Amino acid sequence: MIVPKSRFLISRVDAGSSSAFLVHTDVVNWVLLQEGSGITLIDGGYPGQASDVVESIRHIGGRPEDIQGALLTHAHVDHLGGLVSLSEQYGFDVYMDPVEVTHARREYLQQAGPLDILPIAYRPRVLRWLAAVTPLGVLSRKGIDGAKPFGTRLDLPGGPTPVAAHGHTDGHSAYLVADDTVLVSGDALVSGHPISAIAGPQCISDAFQHDVETARRTVESFTRLDATVLFPGHGPRYDGSVADAARRALDVS
Ligand SMILES: [Zn+2]
Repeated sequence: MIVPKSRFLISRVDAGSSSAFLVHTDVVNWVLLQEGSGITLIDGGYPGQASDVVESIRHIGGRPEDIQGALLTHAHVDHLGGLVSLSEQYGFDVYMDPVEVTHARREYLQQAGPLDILPIAYRPRVLRWLAAVTPLGVLSRKGIDGAKPFGTRLDLPGGPTPVAAHGHTDGHSAYLVADDTVLVSGDALVSGHPISAIAGPQCISDAFQHDVETARRTVESFTRLDATVLFPGHGPRYDGSVADAARRALDVS
């Protein structure tokens, strides 16, 4: 069992009139963008982490009622789960890459199932991870019926810009935030994972990738970005050239 030291760790990057916050937990991360009294949420943790998302918003001086919209990197349960109940309760819309919409509505599921995990399930790290995420709702199949495609311009607090990052799922998206200095990479590029022995920038385990080749091409495309901070979907914040982090990930994974 993974015993969290505290449930989450928050770090921030300021850019002009807005701030971007990485909320890091032992199992998955989400991001808050704050501009004036408005908040944009990027991803929402597991279903069992919805109350932690609310607590993280209060931690930065906001209220869940301030969420003007949410963005999704991809529709896996560890990123979408908390948004299911929060979007219903607080009435905000959840936007994503147009390709990911039907996935978020659960018209199909591109997520590792027991058969994908089976070949690695004997590993102690995988067993500990399963023990940690099962009570958080890893088996939930609930989607977001009202999932919406983002348009060409996102009019949300913090001014996020989508960056196509397909492969981990067909419609996975990353986002540039904080005046394009921070890449919110979702699972396209991570800096750690409970089942990985590697520390630092890496591609997530092939067992979790829907399309490994496309996912690697996405990481190659990140080597052309100028961002200087990485807010990954898993693992701690990474300070340094995101292009270098992408090159390192391609080397080690
Ligand atoms: Zn994930």
